[in-house]
Amino acid sequence: MSPRRWWTATAATLVLTTTALVAPGASAAAPTAPTTDVTLAPDETALVRVQLRDEAQFRQLLAEGADIANRPRLDDGRVLADLVLTGRQLAALTAQGVVARQVVQREGDAARRYAESLLAAPSRTGSRVQGDGRAPAVTAADTLQFLQAYWWTSNGRTFVQTQVATTATEDPDVEITVTWQTADGQTGSYPLVRFADAGEYQYHYALPQPLPARPVRVTASSSLGGAARPTNPTAWPNATPPALPEGYQKDFIDAYLTPTDIQARIRRLARQYDDLVDVIDLPHKTQGYRRTAAGYLGDPASAAIVVESVRFGDQKMNGVQVRTVDPGRRNRPLNATYRDRVLTVSLATDAAGATISTTDQVAAFVSARYPQQFSAFVENGSAGLPMPVAGPVRLDDGLKGTEVSKKPWTVQALRIGAHRDGSRIGVLAYSQEHAREWATPLVTLEFAERLLANAGTDPATRELLDTVDVFVIPMVNPDGANYSFHDANFQRKNLVNHCTGAQRDPANRDAFGVDVNRNYTVGSLFDGYTGASTNCLSGTYAGTGELSEAESRNVIALAQQHPNIRFAMNVHSYGGYFMWPPGAYRADGRVTLPRPSIDESKMFLDSARRIVGAIAADRGTVTWPSQTGPVADVLYSAAGNSADQLYYELGIFAWDFEVGNDRWNETTGQWEGVGFQPPFDEAHAESQEYAGGLVELLRVARDYARDQGEALALTRR
Ligand SMILES: [Zn+2]
Repeated sequence: MSPRRWWTATAATLVLTTTALVAPGASAAAPTAPTTDVTLAPDETALVRVQLRDEAQFRQLLAEGADIANRPRLDDGRVLADLVLTGRQLAALTAQGVVARQVVQREGDAARRYAESLLAAPSRTGSRVQGDGRAPAVTAADTLQFLQAYWWTSNGRTFVQTQVATTATEDPDVEITVTWQTADGQTGSYPLVRFADAGEYQYHYALPQPLPARPVRVTASSSLGGAARPTNPTAWPNATPPALPEGYQKDFIDAYLTPTDIQARIRRLARQYDDLVDVIDLPHKTQGYRRTAAGYLGDPASAAIVVESVRFGDQKMNGVQVRTVDPGRRNRPLNATYRDRVLTVSLATDAAGATISTTDQVAAFVSARYPQQFSAFVENGSAGLPMPVAGPVRLDDGLKGTEVSKKPWTVQALRIGAHRDGSRIGVLAYSQEHAREWATPLVTLEFAERLLANAGTDPATRELLDTVDVFVIPMVNPDGANYSFHDANFQRKNLVNHCTGAQRDPANRDAFGVDVNRNYTVGSLFDGYTGASTNCLSGTYAGTGELSEAESRNVIALAQQHPNIRFAMNVHSYGGYFMWPPGAYRADGRVTLPRPSIDESKMFLDSARRIVGAIAADRGTVTWPSQTGPVADVLYSAAGNSADQLYYELGIFAWDFEVGNDRWNETTGQWEGVGFQPPFDEAHAESQEYAGGLVELLRVARDYARDQGEALALTRR
């Protein structure tokens, strides 16, 4: 019983595709010896950084609904992607030349890291060179141009990052090399890799490169003989927040927080700071941490049907027994009784007294006879087979979180400020749309409590709360979060199962649910945009329609009910990104949602630099310039994401964080991913640095209101 049929079923496709994709003499596939243990047991699920053959293979995985945690990174000619997969799936990919580079996080790590956390308790926009922006040179040589050249220092180590565009946009074999020079005359060079997205050339770039000192000059040359004008790299982000005053209170996070913990934290903050806080119950209750009860009647390996309760397991359906019996008499029709919580199906017999019902007949009969109680379907591979005498089996929802409330959940927002009447500019921070991103509510709750705890003692905090109206939804997706904590830590989606027929097989239980951040109305799958799936088992399943889910409706309802909200931050993990619209494009021609105006693009980038600077002030984490920009450019197309709806429909400056930046490993000389549920020390550090980023966002909003004039600032487009 494979828990992820979508992948198993497509493995054959992958083989064909990758065979076809082997470029003659491709050097990119040359494996690098792994530096850590990258072996997985066949049934073990893990988050693994793998080296793919090329970007086309990544797109293939994306199209097949693979659980991809990150955009592929290009590192020294190799395509790196982070995937959630089983050992079996990894073996299948390895057989096709994929190389595992780093096990970012194992399935078993999450519970341990949660337990340990309890024990621990005490840019570019506007300057993009388009392929058709200028006539290519007619000589053999191409022309190069630096799109970005930035340097920074983090924890004593200096880095440089560059993007270069060639006019030879259609030539996939152009090689570009960047050479750097420091003030004291040291030099070195590194290769760039070509980055194309949806078949369109974008630029050449490389991951940040460690340097011995600040670069004062970079040059670029291409294999076609082209060169770029030498450039003096600029400091990134080159913005520093105001110093924290003496006595500033922070560090309110001492463990990972479950949904129940978050609910309690919200209640405590409201009680402790009642003059500065309102708690808003969002209007759409979620389904709750619940699921239908189901079981296999028969043997799935030979012949079986799945019997599923219509109501949820906790609605007195867990433990209901189901069986088939031989009536022991000749010429009996198919029949069934349901009493004392036991469903007994009596199989039909022939003149000799042998049972003759098929799996299809039994499944159809049960569904038709007890439509209020049961629905049954034939297990894959069992169609038309004789139905065996089997059972009794107990139906069960399989949920392991016995302490968790099964009721529909009321998602809550904190409203923080001295004037919570709509007269001040509003800023919304919301997190954990994706269940497995455990560090994200730590960020928003740390942010909220910093404001409240310092309001009485720090004049700067008080001034912010006098001028800004702050809204925080720490946890958009509580049901999925409960599932991530108690059942399957890599759960990304909510718990609403829209699958029909055989896709409802209990073997698929960890793949049910809707991707909340693909369920919004602007640039959606339903509008023809790319980066979401119609497959109910895919990690990016968009739902049955725009805003089909309570979780997404809640975010929009809060923004609609408070028209003073003009800024928003959607907090995700991981990877270290800072992004804004457009967040989606149509695959055909890579036509994005409309680009912001020049003025707004400048606002997005200038504000981003301030906020990136504030994040860096905590432990030196610098979000790369290559990962600061529009979602569609720096990450991937995410059809139907929330920030796009907030921006295009409601006129809100809407950003996204991906907290959890890669860490530079000085020993291996590689950037390493941190994962969704890192060791708590890392999650704690993320909460601290990104809470500082959110405080800077408040200053951005305050300055915007001051510069525009309050009345204008509160007017949405
Ligand atoms: Zn996310």
